[in-house]
Amino acid sequence: MATYDDNNIFARILRGEIPCQRLYEDEFALAFPDIKPQAPCHVLVIPKGKYVSATDFGAMATPEEITGFYRAVSLVAEKVGVAESGYRLIANAGPDSRQEVPHFHVHILGGRLLGAMLVAP
Ligand code: 5GP
Repeated sequence: MATYDDNNIFARILRGEIPCQRLYEDEFALAFPDIKPQAPCHVLVIPKGKYVSATDFGAMATPEEITGFYRAVSLVAEKVGVAESGYRLIANAGPDSRQEVPHFHVHILGGRLLGAMLVAP
């Protein structure tokens, strides 16, 4: 498992060193809009803990952290108004997924018909 980089962008957002619009925050998670939205709704939800990827989070986070995080994802989907119309969760993990930021995060995408699950590389 890759070592957690304390200077990754999301770690800096969590510490308040880089601004973001805090759409939702609790002890387990923080949600904010993606800087390059791919859909009318494109929100990122990140855990407060230091986890590199979905693999790391699933393997190493406590049951409380995992439950708290996924409850936050559901709450955010309600809060940003896509729970009824539908949305897609994406969690890129590792090189083949082209994960860009090495702090586990879930993308919430919605606000329009999303089409095919995968696009060509
Ligand atoms: P990944 O490819 O790692 O799954 O997605 C990382 C996401 O973080 C990208 O969609 C990118 O637009 C977003 N992102 C990168 N830097 C920033 C930033 O400084 N602020 C915000 N709000 N989003 C960012």
